[in-house]
Amino acid sequence: MNVATTCPYCGVGCGLLARIDASGAVQVEGDARHPANHGRLCVKGSALAETVDLRGRLLHPLLRTSGGSLRRTSWNDALDRVAKGFGKVIEQHGPDAVAFYVSGQLLTEDYYVVNKLAKGYIGTANIDTNSRLCMSSAVAGHKRAFGEDIVPGCYDDLELAELIVLVGSNTAWCHPIVYQRIAKAKERSAPPRVVVIDPRHTATCESADLHLPIKPGTDVWLFNGLVAFLFQHGAMDTHFVDTHTQGFEAALAAAQTDAGDPAEVARICGVKLVDLLAFYAWFARCERTVSLFSQGVNQSSSGTDKVNAIINCHLLTGRIGKPGMGPFSLTGQPNAMGGREVGGLANMLAAHMELDNPMHRQIVQSFWQSPCMAERVGLKAVDLFRAIEEGRVKALWIMATNPVVSLPDADQVKRALARCECVVSSDIVTHTDTNAFAHVLLPALGWGEKDGTVTNSARCISRQRAFLPAPGEARADWHIVCEVARRLGFTQGFQFEDVHAVFVEHARLTAFRNHDVQADGLPATRRLLNLQGLAHVDRQAYASLSPVQWPVTSDGEGVARLFADGRFSHVDGRARFVPTPARMPAHAADRHYPLILNTGRVRDQWHSMTRTGKAPRLTGHIAEPFIDMHPHDALRCGVREGELARVQSRWGAMVARVKQSGGVLAGNVFVPIHWSGQFASDARVGSLVNPVVDPISGEPEFKHTPVQVEPF
Ligand code: SF4
Repeated sequence: MNVATTCPYCGVGCGLLARIDASGAVQVEGDARHPANHGRLCVKGSALAETVDLRGRLLHPLLRTSGGSLRRTSWNDALDRVAKGFGKVIEQHGPDAVAFYVSGQLLTEDYYVVNKLAKGYIGTANIDTNSRLCMSSAVAGHKRAFGEDIVPGCYDDLELAELIVLVGSNTAWCHPIVYQRIAKAKERSAPPRVVVIDPRHTATCESADLHLPIKPGTDVWLFNGLVAFLFQHGAMDTHFVDTHTQGFEAALAAAQTDAGDPAEVARICGVKLVDLLAFYAWFARCERTVSLFSQGVNQSSSGTDKVNAIINCHLLTGRIGKPGMGPFSLTGQPNAMGGREVGGLANMLAAHMELDNPMHRQIVQSFWQSPCMAERVGLKAVDLFRAIEEGRVKALWIMATNPVVSLPDADQVKRALARCECVVSSDIVTHTDTNAFAHVLLPALGWGEKDGTVTNSARCISRQRAFLPAPGEARADWHIVCEVARRLGFTQGFQFEDVHAVFVEHARLTAFRNHDVQADGLPATRRLLNLQGLAHVDRQAYASLSPVQWPVTSDGEGVARLFADGRFSHVDGRARFVPTPARMPAHAADRHYPLILNTGRVRDQWHSMTRTGKAPRLTGHIAEPFIDMHPHDALRCGVREGELARVQSRWGAMVARVKQSGGVLAGNVFVPIHWSGQFASDARVGSLVNPVVDPISGEPEFKHTPVQVEPF
């Protein structure tokens, strides 16, 4: 029998049908009824069946012995030790001496329960997620512009658009089904124009009518220039701006100061003036324009401003929330959005409420009946690991992620974990760079074994359903957290019978005191994240839940597009233009480190390869890490195609093979993120990446680290 479930990889969130055939083999195909993919699957999704074996799986709770080896123990013993370790630190040093570092791989229900434990019961907001690394700038940009973290449109807008702008996104490799939808739209008799804005010439450029290979870090100049151009050429929707927005004059002044002259913008961005003007003219002319952006925008020390610079262009033209138009953040992970919805970031509460808003804290505390509410924003990912190294945080629970590979300045993460008194890791595999530092390892259920919901880039909530038995003693993450909560003495609040009970509580919280009215008559907590229509869903309806885009109305219907009525989530209902003065990345190239390192994904791998690394047809695409560089730079550095070279920054070094794909601008190198210290040589590119973050979002600058390359 087919089980309808959702792909565990990227934020496109494709629907799948999975089954076990007569021979016992797993079969996976695309779900034609799912609105994200209509039956399509990319190569990673279609190879899922090859990745579900138990090689390398963590099947039993393990403890680190004093000699450093791992020994099996019972669940009772492991859970007691976690509770004892955390309880002792809380008692001696207070709640902010413990922390949780979680993941966009968790299901929404797992995320909800661990947030509730940290923020509502232990009383610390020291819970952050690896989603901080990929889309927290989009979150911050959405909140500044719209008053809430919202992607206004839906994937169907791709087929309705006249112009599709892809910014900082190798969509063809990183969000392949979105790319396939765009490529299909290009086959129409009146195809959309596609503009790719990316320093690299990637596979995505194959569908582009125009590629703008901007210098890394110059996006804000480009979009400020567009704001100035649109205003000057009469493309502004004056009625929309006057009626539904605030702050236009200040944003326009900032844009004109930085980027009033297109020739100067072209010079700063390093693109041809004729190409820049073509893009500006197309944007001015095409009413139905979708601007998709991804990590090339977000992973920057000015990532939030880059996001707002893009959104400003859509506000100025009133192109938002209507068919075929709007800014569109492509999330990296399968449930980065769901984690945001239940407060998975250190600065947020559940149901899109804010930790630094006393009224929101009061609403959540009253709903949870919680004994000890976090009162201030917690430590964001990079700061969290600094606090651990400095001894301010002494106990850490990591769930479904591998920060020793994925964080910037990754050797600092090693130092931090080596110092930490109590490191707990919930994972599906035993041996990772991070688990080498864990004192307690807890076996979690993986994709195909666990049950719950995820939300994709387009706000679509879909079910992940189990179709495989739980292997060994593995348990659901939400269940493990509840067991520890009870051992910490929280007898109320964690008595969920099953995952359905968790989901219903989450849905009820989204609707709880939403639309409260202040004394001045303005809505104080109006949040569009409202799952009112699912707040009383019964077990059977939850089991058969079809994909639905939130908000979910009281009659259970989803909403494809938001803001078409011109009403935003800010208290006064107006969107905000945000002035975005342009600035260069934090670290420039110099004579010691003359090249700029850019990092990212390759087509057939996912994160640190614990799943995709098992499928031969995926590893066959690109079998080893590489350093992609321009031939002139290779010559200057004395390295040759196919030879090993050493890349070094002020923070660390790694070795990989040189490749000259022809897609990298002179002065830049590209290294993929997937390979870890578990391979023949330590290939963690994270160890090179500078730990500078965006001051608003806390997202690291993964796309711009000065490095040198030399023969190995
Ligand atoms: Fe999975 Fe993303 Fe591929 Fe869809 S596009 S099948 S969600 S990896």
